[in-house]
Amino acid sequence: LALGGCSSERAGTTTTGETTAGGTTAAAEGGLIGIAMPTRSLERWNKDGAHLESLLQGMGYETTLQYADNKVDQQITQIQNMINQDPEVLVIASIDGTALAPVLATAKSRDITVIAYDRLINETPDVDYYATFDNYLVGKLQGEYITEQIGSDQVTLEPFAGSPDDNNAKFFFSGAWDVLNPLIQSGQITVPSGKAPATDEEWQSIGILGWGSKDAQDEMQNRLNTFYAGGEKVDVVLSPNDSLALGIAQALEGAGYTPGEGYPILTGQDADKANVQNIIAGKQSMTVWKDTRELGDQVATMVDQVVKGEEVDVNDTETYDNGEKVVPTYLLEPVVVTQDNIEDTLVESGFYTKADLGI
Ligand code: BGC
Repeated sequence: LALGGCSSERAGTTTTGETTAGGTTAAAEGGLIGIAMPTRSLERWNKDGAHLESLLQGMGYETTLQYADNKVDQQITQIQNMINQDPEVLVIASIDGTALAPVLATAKSRDITVIAYDRLINETPDVDYYATFDNYLVGKLQGEYITEQIGSDQVTLEPFAGSPDDNNAKFFFSGAWDVLNPLIQSGQITVPSGKAPATDEEWQSIGILGWGSKDAQDEMQNRLNTFYAGGEKVDVVLSPNDSLALGIAQALEGAGYTPGEGYPILTGQDADKANVQNIIAGKQSMTVWKDTRELGDQVATMVDQVVKGEEVDVNDTETYDNGEKVVPTYLLEPVVVTQDNIEDTLVESGFYTKADLGI
């Protein structure tokens, strides 16, 4: 998955797709834009970084793109190094949304504009804009998919939530829980493990720190071994994203579930390639696709507007309160992908080729 120029999480600056050791190459007309991404371990962030970088370079900007191996300290150091190079704008997909206040205060003191990318940065006045897909809607689409599929059936459900340090995870969970919790309260859905937060405020109690597939797999295995040992079946698994869904599918397979009749409904998010292949194979039911190219296009436009001193495009000035201020936001719409519309969505738009997906 080594898209883009960096061959490792710690790799240096990329300008023309090549890795250079710490500096940037030939000055571009537009000035320097720093891009901080969380990790290379998930397909989506590789695509996000590569796309945004190539767009900005195409617009005449110089870029420095860094991945931080999901390590908060490493991301802070990378941002500090970017600040030292005096960029016009910093675009940051944070790892821990509450850990960046001090480094962003430095950015602000140097008049650098900060755009939070995909994930909100909390508890700092020094974030200027936010661009993301509608995170609450992602969860709501997962919840609604589940309720459409189960109809009036009585079912068992195992819910999962995302990383407790990721502000998005709260929105994903509450979007889904606002749809599902009433059915738990009415008794149509039962949660044999008992891991059903009474309110969406308590989502962190079932969060998977770091969004790791293996941790989700272990957790699912534990629940199956402990609460389904008597032959009971799990009918639905709410997974907030694809990395968790991948691990959950492995645990299901290990416990003897096979695609077809009796395989649980399993949700996801991101349309990562392995998960789309799992959807085709019947090992995952749906994913919520966020076309990372659209987010990149939007953020590149916002960067350009900032640099040119133009008004910056936003369409939500109410939702994303980071504890210090409501951050002006551009929200994009996610799309549900199932076996039935893979070609009409992912293939038609060129996100994947048929060959990518083996179809
Ligand atoms: C992103 C998701 C992603 C997750 C794990 C979230 O903040 O919005 O698209 O699956 O992080 O990286």
